[in-house]
Amino acid sequence: MITVNNLTKKYPNQVALNDITTTFPAHQTTAILGPSGSGKSTLLRSLNLLELPTSGEMILDDLQLAFNQVISNQTILKVRQQFGMVFQEKALFTHLDVLHNLTEGLIHVKKLTKAVANQQALKLLEQFEMTELANRFPYQLSGGQQQRIAIIRALAMQPKYLLLDEPTSALDPELEAQVLRILRSLAEQNTSMVIVTHNMAFARQVADRILFIDHGNLGYQGDTENFFTSDNPRIQQFLGAMT
Ligand code: ATP
Ligand code: MG
Repeated sequence: MITVNNLTKKYPNQVALNDITTTFPAHQTTAILGPSGSGKSTLLRSLNLLELPTSGEMILDDLQLAFNQVISNQTILKVRQQFGMVFQEKALFTHLDVLHNLTEGLIHVKKLTKAVANQQALKLLEQFEMTELANRFPYQLSGGQQQRIAIIRALAMQPKYLLLDEPTSALDPELEAQVLRILRSLAEQNTSMVIVTHNMAFARQVADRILFIDHGNLGYQGDTENFFTSDNPRIQQFLGAMT
């Protein structure tokens, strides 16, 4: 489980996150929802320290970090190793085919031999029915295929937590459906995921837990169905604007 206490992120002109205290349970899917500019990406990126919060603390399983102190590079590395991340934009290595995109981290970070890395990568491709893409380069893939490979590449590293920042927002609805199908199956396998999404139907269907961020404040945390049936005017206004 990840716990954040009083997490605050200030930019020179702006408070991006204001005193957020919440949890991200293991083996569950937490969806972060909220209007544009509300701080969703900042919260997600704070978890793997791509953003360093200004103050507050984070407890990541047995690791405790206080953000008013300097965090060592060694600790940052240790934290990052617990996470896989999938971004909104295509993030595959353009000069490598799919198989090599998948094995790159296994060989250079996990220090697996090439043979073992290939074996693991091929197994994942088979599991997600994308074996036929193994030797294609990213430019030979659709946007949806690229995002699915990006998800598989993150999974290949066997992270404890998978972070996804609007993984389908650059896709048209048909391609989005393919990517959502993978995420749904990961959720069903109790993968520990935190996902920022604008797709309310998907969040409602898949998330175990909702965080609603509004102007850097935590406007709701808790049960998914309670969020979507809430009579809180701000939540109703947000959901009304999203449909
Ligand atoms: P979107 O839905 O558009 O992706 P978001 O909820 O992910 O929005 P964030 O990217 O977390 O929003 O940004 C939160 C706020 O912090 C925004 O007002 C943004 O302008 C500001 N912000 C983000 N990054 C920086 C930065 N590097 N410097 C200054 N302000 C920033
Ligand atoms: Mg964002």
